[in-house]
Amino acid sequence: MKTNTILWVIFFSCIFTANSSLLFSEVADFILFNGKIITVDAQDNIYEAIAIKNGIILRVGSNQEILKFDGAGCKRIDLHGKTVTPGLVDSHFHLMYWGQQFWPGYLNIRHPAVTSKADLLNLIKEYVKKLKPGEWISGNQGFTLKMNETLDRWDLDKVCPDNPAYLRHCSGQYSVVNSKALEIAKIDKNTPNPHSSRIVKDSTGEPTGILMHYPAENLVGQFAPGYGELSEEEERESIDRGQKLCFEAGYTSVQDVIVGNFNDILLYKKFADSSILKVRLYALLYINNEEQANNVAQAYKPINTGRFTFGGWKLAMDGGLAARTILMYNKKLFASSQSYPYFEQDELNRIVKILHNTGLQVAIHVCGDEGIDMSINAFEQAMQANPRPDPRHRIEHGLFPSLNAMQRFQKNKIILSTQPQWITWYGDSYSQMTDSSTMRRLLPLKTMLNMGIPLAFGCDVPASTYQEPKWAFFGATIRKSAQTPTIFNPEERLTIQEALRIHTMGSAYASFSEKTTGSLEPGKFADLVIWSHDLYTMAPCEAIELNAELTMVNGEIVYTDGKNVVTSVDNDHTILSPDIRLYHYISPNPFSKATSINYQLQTAGRVKIDIFNSLGKKITTLIDEWQEAGNHSCEFGVRNYELSAGMYYYRIQVGERTESGRLLLIK
Ligand SMILES: [Zn+2]
Repeated sequence: MKTNTILWVIFFSCIFTANSSLLFSEVADFILFNGKIITVDAQDNIYEAIAIKNGIILRVGSNQEILKFDGAGCKRIDLHGKTVTPGLVDSHFHLMYWGQQFWPGYLNIRHPAVTSKADLLNLIKEYVKKLKPGEWISGNQGFTLKMNETLDRWDLDKVCPDNPAYLRHCSGQYSVVNSKALEIAKIDKNTPNPHSSRIVKDSTGEPTGILMHYPAENLVGQFAPGYGELSEEEERESIDRGQKLCFEAGYTSVQDVIVGNFNDILLYKKFADSSILKVRLYALLYINNEEQANNVAQAYKPINTGRFTFGGWKLAMDGGLAARTILMYNKKLFASSQSYPYFEQDELNRIVKILHNTGLQVAIHVCGDEGIDMSINAFEQAMQANPRPDPRHRIEHGLFPSLNAMQRFQKNKIILSTQPQWITWYGDSYSQMTDSSTMRRLLPLKTMLNMGIPLAFGCDVPASTYQEPKWAFFGATIRKSAQTPTIFNPEERLTIQEALRIHTMGSAYASFSEKTTGSLEPGKFADLVIWSHDLYTMAPCEAIELNAELTMVNGEIVYTDGKNVVTSVDNDHTILSPDIRLYHYISPNPFSKATSINYQLQTAGRVKIDIFNSLGKKITTLIDEWQEAGNHSCEFGVRNYELSAGMYYYRIQVGERTESGRLLLIK
């Protein structure tokens, strides 16, 4: 008995010693210090510094607490007071398709290239001069028109009679094609409407060239360059372009809410597995009809690799305001004058039930009040028939909910995933296309937040003009039009703290990833952004100048504008406490011809920099002079000395302080 007790004591003290020595000797991979770390944790704590190890947040705290984790091999960034937040999570994105918009084979018709019908027709007129008859005019997504302007096949025929043209509206809710394109797709008076779509026809039954919603658009799109099947290489390029744009904007996780087929889901996974996909991606498979819902329900299981998640299903119930296809009870509104439900209620109920029963998430694109109610009806009946603990079904966009609808969001814990930038950019045209009582219900974000409805933000490019999250912040916190002085329902403004929390934790929650992303807390993925401005103290109107300066996913820098310098110290030769450390870095290192030693002086002082070989023999003194405070740099070029490849040392002395480190010469 006694021996056992002793063994246990020894055992426990071993654990304790091992743990405590680990705590005090652990070296981080990366440290960001001397800044304002907005954690978005439950208490909204703000710290000075953060330490990262193996892609995971090790600790947040004061400079003193975090610099203990500095050491050999640790990279560090002195933030000089700058603000860091969790990487933003975008709840409504189209990753591959956004990257594809910049494919050189498209005619670029996006804003600002085209803002009116005249712009578009002039652009095509010039473009067609370079084409041979029969060659396609395939536009990216897409054009915008002025209010009350319409476009049809006969408008296009005037500028491109001999070349088929496929042009998508920027909203992605409709396309316009010319007569040549209709001919190629064999669409005429007798062609029936595909499910949930319309081939718009004039009073004589002749197709006008306007194709409403994806299935009708695809009748022509399948022939247009850039819209049919892409090669794996082309898809890889699109994903790469798309994720670069995400990182520049400050998104570290995005949710691709329209993946057209399961092959693309598998392709995303493959690219995630081979580290081509660096942005964290959550994907929903688009479901066109009941038959497809039945098929997928049998076949597919969730996927979650940490980098890529296949999370469920996406449906659409109505279109958009520009297409006049939002499903409102008031059909007299211009915005709903062409509207029709993409599914009848019974059919929608059946489909949602099938998809809900897979155990995965269901998201429905819907803007109008009638469509929102129909979607909630379907969620409610599926959830009642088969209660699941935490289904987190979602409404995408949800522009004009009634009070009753909001109460049902609340009761059923349905997520609203939406785009506040639409208030800024489209609020004026929404006003013109609806009426004042409808506009009073435009995205009542504060009311919904106060009701405890889970909210998530996304930019929805390419359907939106801009991808930067600053427009979500501006739209949500100011609710002002970009074009006029109008402020839409100022009582629904959020604070920047609320908007940031929605764009991080809220959107993470919408993809079941709030335990691993969305805030800067120990144990979570090290996904973060250094910003040009302090989000919490900038004037609201300054939001439009906000830029991501550096973006990190999993502790890896995936984007930098170069303003934040990464340094590192080799602990072999640096025995200094953090408070007297001289900040410096060597670049490049290793080097072959020359390298520069960059350093920062907090105050003016005498600076001496020496270079030694591996035996400690001095090779040269690079600098020995009085220098002003500020950033300095001095070059060490090898051509003046006969040096062989290998390890060298530098030593910087500033007054009493000394820094030293290794230089690796390679030939
Ligand atoms: Zn979208």
